[in-house]
Amino acid sequence: MAMNNSNLFPVTPGTPDPANGSAAAHTAPVRAQPDSPQKDFSREHFAALVESSDDAIISKDMRGNVVSWNPGAEALFGFSAQEMIGQPMLVLFPPERHDEENLILNKILAGEKIKHFETVRRHRDGRLLEVSVTISPIRDAAGRIVGASKIARDISERRRLTDTARHFEAIVACSDDAIIGKALDGTILSWNAGAQAIFGYSATEMIGRSVLVLVPPERHAEEAEILRRLRGGEKADHVETVRLRKDGSLVNVSVTSSPVRDVHGTIIGASKIARDITAQKRADARLQLTASVFSSTHEGILITDASGLIVEVNESFQRMSGYRRSELLGQSPLMFSSSRQGPEVRAVMMAALEQSGSCQGEAWSRRKDGQAYAGLLSVNAIRDGDGVVQNYVALVADITSLRAKQEELERLLHFDPLTKLANRILLGDRLQQALLQTRRAQQSVAVLYLDLDRFKQINDTYGHDTGDQVLVALSHNMLAALRDTDTLARMGGDEFVVVLPDAGTADDVNKLVRRILHACAQPIAIGTLTLQVSASIGMTVSPADGADADQLVRHADQAMFIAKREGRNRIYRFDPAVEAEIQLRNVQLARIAQAIDTDELQLFYQPKVNMRLGTVIGMEALVRWRHPDHGLLGPGAFLPILQDDALETVLGEWVIREALGQMSQWQAAGRRLPVSVNIAARHLQLPDFSARLQALLNACPQVDPGDLELEILETSALHDLPAVAAVMAECQALGVHFAVDDFGTGYSALTYLRRLPAETLKIDQSFVRDMLVDPDDLAMVQSIMALAGVFKRNVIAEGVESIETGARLLALGCEKAQGYAIARPMAAAAIQAWLADWQPCPSWKNVAPLT
Ligand code: C2E
Ligand code: MG
Ligand code: MG
Repeated sequence: MAMNNSNLFPVTPGTPDPANGSAAAHTAPVRAQPDSPQKDFSREHFAALVESSDDAIISKDMRGNVVSWNPGAEALFGFSAQEMIGQPMLVLFPPERHDEENLILNKILAGEKIKHFETVRRHRDGRLLEVSVTISPIRDAAGRIVGASKIARDISERRRLTDTARHFEAIVACSDDAIIGKALDGTILSWNAGAQAIFGYSATEMIGRSVLVLVPPERHAEEAEILRRLRGGEKADHVETVRLRKDGSLVNVSVTSSPVRDVHGTIIGASKIARDITAQKRADARLQLTASVFSSTHEGILITDASGLIVEVNESFQRMSGYRRSELLGQSPLMFSSSRQGPEVRAVMMAALEQSGSCQGEAWSRRKDGQAYAGLLSVNAIRDGDGVVQNYVALVADITSLRAKQEELERLLHFDPLTKLANRILLGDRLQQALLQTRRAQQSVAVLYLDLDRFKQINDTYGHDTGDQVLVALSHNMLAALRDTDTLARMGGDEFVVVLPDAGTADDVNKLVRRILHACAQPIAIGTLTLQVSASIGMTVSPADGADADQLVRHADQAMFIAKREGRNRIYRFDPAVEAEIQLRNVQLARIAQAIDTDELQLFYQPKVNMRLGTVIGMEALVRWRHPDHGLLGPGAFLPILQDDALETVLGEWVIREALGQMSQWQAAGRRLPVSVNIAARHLQLPDFSARLQALLNACPQVDPGDLELEILETSALHDLPAVAAVMAECQALGVHFAVDDFGTGYSALTYLRRLPAETLKIDQSFVRDMLVDPDDLAMVQSIMALAGVFKRNVIAEGVESIETGARLLALGCEKAQGYAIARPMAAAAIQAWLADWQPCPSWKNVAPLT
């Protein structure tokens, strides 16, 4: 386009500088110069400059109408010179900026220049343009302002570029990643705040240093390789590596390094973006751990979505349920419901889940094969940040075998393993229940305590296996005799308890009890053996006996004890008087035990002599109780209380120990005195009797066991003669002697005489006392003498109260005697004096034995 009205433009030395946007040359008012060739040249030159300028160069008159319009203006605003010349400049103003024109004209009028005024103008097509304008007044030769020149430059692009650059700068500045610029030799050129945060060095510390500062020595090769690749134009993407912090610690980073090129594509450096991935690494590790727990845990894990549909299950759950994962996804856990439990269990758990977000409990579930299994279940709701449930996670432990074990334990706890009958604990429950029911219905409950008679003998004779079988068979027989509502329990050993609820009248109860006795007496076949037992039964009936469950059983037990004492194979009904008697006995037993402990017991000694020779042959030890309140008590006052009680043995051992001690003392004093000690049948029958005796003897080594004699009492209470004989033989092997005390009383004396290896028979004082006046007693004494002769046993008479009796005994051939006629039992301390004093009866020397 041709330059129009270029004459309006003053000729000036210097040209506007479009490159820097400044138009310093226009700052001074331009004056028109007179024409000259030089002037022509410069005007031409200037016109060409205006013509070729990329800037819009426009002039306007003081009315604001366009006077000249260069191609740069056309390029910028889209209007041609033709279109614009004579038009008001306002055409280029967006309507909201029309005011600007007046301001501009006013300034121009005032001779002012407007420099680099950034504003917005309109393109021909309506588009808005960001422009920088410099407007200067134009003066005529007289210096009057006649118009204005305007140089406008499109700055949209520049603005965009600087905005972008600023934007990028800001991004780099606030990035959490380290963004580092480096030269190709690794020298650091730029360093952002992210780099400082990750590595600890500030930009000042790092710029100009080698990037190797950040690289652990063992990884220097790695960095060299990266630089090599960068120089070759390659990029290194997301390399996970380790770098060094300023404080010497290591940091896991993911690094992306790219070559940086200049406009010509030449590689001038490299950028490096490093991201701290420590947290991510840790999270990865945690995730991995979680995943491995999920897959390897023994517990089943099931995850549902918020609506309760299964979204994930682990291996264990698949194993437990029998379903494969694919069969479970999208299903509801309701598919595992087992008929073994009602819907209420689920309802309770759901309610807890809703309320607290978690629930625990035991639940039965069904496997794919239909089998039920017991699961220990713990369900937790997983919520998002807003507290909205996203998932439910259920942990299930299969506790089926635990349950089975528990049930087994329960059975063990409540049932007797041998007979499968209820045990003591279950009996307590049942009795309690029966009592409650009958109290309501005003009925009576009978409680029977049953002990088999002489069951020990079956065990001892045939062995425990046979004994067990007898117990089992017997339980069956008894159960058959009972009603469904009755309870038969085994208390242990050969003791049973029967609870008969709704027992009816006394007659009814008796009938039932007789049936039970009958059932017990049934012959029992075990292999080739046929065995028969009997039972002693104690019974009590509630509410006549107003005791509680435990006491009722104890009362029945006490009654059984009496049934035994009364001769076995019978029923005894509990009697409160008996109860009182038993209570009293317990008190007495405790008192005797205390007496033994506190040395209130004492042994008296009664001499035994050979009447014919006039010699003392020994002493019988007889126990006394120096009772603080009742004075000196004889054995008759307290020994019967001990009968059948373990305390009897305790006392027996005390006596032996005491006697042996006394013998040692006598021996030490130069007196050797044999002593006989009374032994209860029950004591002698203890299985370890001989061993314990030996221990007692060992404790007194000075005593010759041959000086100790044991007088066996109550021979009729000796049940197992062969066993007793064996024990006696063991004791005799130790050197100890035996005498059968009170010989002639009791029954089957002859049998005992034959089978017990006792060296001496002690004629009971009841025959001796009256033998002078009672021919029967005399005959008895004579018979015993004869028997002793036949069985080659020694004989001693007790209860010799008169010289005559002694003489008569001597005449019958019984030389040894003991009795008041010789000496009363006395304290050990009195023995020495008695021995010194004692004179044998002169008349006995003259008695010639009968031949
Ligand atoms: P036993 O073994 O037959 O003892 C003889 C009893 O007759 C003694 O009574 C004794 O004092 C008494 N006695 C002795 N000579 C005469 C006499 O001439 N006339 C009369 N009427 N009685 C005489 P004691 O000491 O009261 O003992 C009674 C029973 O107590 C003893 O009878 C014995 O069975 C038992 N006993 C005594 N001490 C012990 C002991 O340490 N252990 C055991 N298990 N029983 C003992
Ligand atoms: Mg005796
Ligand atoms: Mg006696």
